[in-house]
Amino acid sequence: MPQTFTHTFDSSLFKGTVTINTGLFIGGKWVDPVDGGDPVDVVDPCTGKVITTVAGGTSKDVDVAVAAAERAYKTSWGLKVPGAERGRLLGKLADLVEQHSDKLAALEALNVGKPFPMAQFIDMSMITIPVLRYYAGWADKIQGKTIETNENKMAYTRHEPYGVVGAITPWNIPLAAAVLKIAPLLATGNVAVLKPSEIAPLTALYFADLVNQAGFPPGTVNIVNGYGNTVGEAISRHPLIRAVGFTGSTLTGRKILKASAESNLKKVSLELGGKSPVIVFDDAELDQAIKWASGGIFSNMGQVCVAGSRIYVQEGIYDKFIQGFRKLAEGLADATGTPFEPGTRHGPQVSNAQFERVMGYINSGKSEGAKVLTGGERQGDTGFFIKPTIFTEAKADMKIMQEEIFGPVCSVVKFKTEEGKQVTEWANNTTYGLGANVMTQNVARAIRMANSLEAGSVWINSGATADMGVPFGGFKQSGNSKEFGEYALDAYTQVKAIHINIGQRL
Ligand code: NAD
Repeated sequence: MPQTFTHTFDSSLFKGTVTINTGLFIGGKWVDPVDGGDPVDVVDPCTGKVITTVAGGTSKDVDVAVAAAERAYKTSWGLKVPGAERGRLLGKLADLVEQHSDKLAALEALNVGKPFPMAQFIDMSMITIPVLRYYAGWADKIQGKTIETNENKMAYTRHEPYGVVGAITPWNIPLAAAVLKIAPLLATGNVAVLKPSEIAPLTALYFADLVNQAGFPPGTVNIVNGYGNTVGEAISRHPLIRAVGFTGSTLTGRKILKASAESNLKKVSLELGGKSPVIVFDDAELDQAIKWASGGIFSNMGQVCVAGSRIYVQEGIYDKFIQGFRKLAEGLADATGTPFEPGTRHGPQVSNAQFERVMGYINSGKSEGAKVLTGGERQGDTGFFIKPTIFTEAKADMKIMQEEIFGPVCSVVKFKTEEGKQVTEWANNTTYGLGANVMTQNVARAIRMANSLEAGSVWINSGATADMGVPFGGFKQSGNSKEFGEYALDAYTQVKAIHINIGQRL
């Protein structure tokens, strides 16, 4: 019998009791894993203690979920359900998520340690809810083209779903990352087998009940919690899964592509890691540049794919920038706390493994000769807290300048001019290409820089912000696909061309 988990929140920020099922969600029902599965402990990052244990599947459970999804696709979803109806259900789901958003945000904050107001605002209000609504709107607007060939012939295209689509997601924005796949794939007529991160499985389980309440046919969304090397691998290799949407590290993305190549060549859409540059020119609005840069690296404890971890500042304002930036970082360190304490703006890293990983990078920066301007150490002696950390005097080939840290750690580097393109070369000098930021009041310079940066998104005079209609996705080893906007529909539709002969007889 699948179990439940109940938690009561009692802080001035949020009071309430939340109950979730902790089984696998397959065919619209809560089920136990076949053969007992591989249970997953969920850990509180503020204390390191286990909050609860949820069911974890194996490849056998993926088989069961795929069979349920196939049944749903063939009998009660896909293009036989009009787009308007798919959109109506997605809209209903958006309304339900909105009604339950405080509980969802509370669960997210409990599980990953982010401040509760941040989970409410960024995870729920900025991404999860509007993404569901946005793709609800697309469901009846999936259109092909009519293509004239010659006077005896014409052709038209259909944008057809793949059928069963796998979704494999990370822990930094757990439900939001899942919905960024579920919403466009359902809108386009596919059905889903979702594997959330084993580190952050709780909100997906709450979401499952809302999918049922919204009235989706059983099997349109299936959720198999579990580990990457079992459930994730089985999804990536499954012969009946025709496409996979993945968000996570570049290392895992490579494994998924390999599994696809060795199985059925399923389409793999990848949203991967980053090492985003922030370039601040002398003529930037200094206060704004400092605030955007600080939000860009320290928000969500640096656990953001587009974290601006390499900050290049022109020499004329370098000293003033450093002074203001350090002040904000130290202010954040002073506002460190648990998610439900009023005033918390900085929390723990999500897990002990991430804590160790980030501390490893900090130590490597120190031993390679970069200078710690502030931070550079753990905070407190329980949980996985690390102080916002700024390095100066980092060199381009240091690990802290090349590899994704995924923590509150950045390097500030001085540059001289735009001319000669030195700063552009520095900015482009990693294997990643997710985002980039340019701070300047000179429009021509901003556009020149944007055109020369190797990144899927460039933000001029802002940090990384998400807009529903604007595509987001990496260049180079940061990905091969797009989320948000109309572009995301391409990940979940295949184009069929139909040729019609209206004249020629043989
Ligand atoms: P991760 O790659 O470790 O895990 C992501 C997911 O992949 C998890 O569900 C995990 O269980 C699964 N997985 C692990 N091994 C697998 C395998 N062999 N086969 C199939 N699935 C497997 O990443 P993470 O630590 O959860 O998340 C952090 C990473 O996600 C960072 O690199 C970050 O930049 C990236 N990210 C990217 C975006 C984006 O939009 N580009 C957004 C958020 C996070």
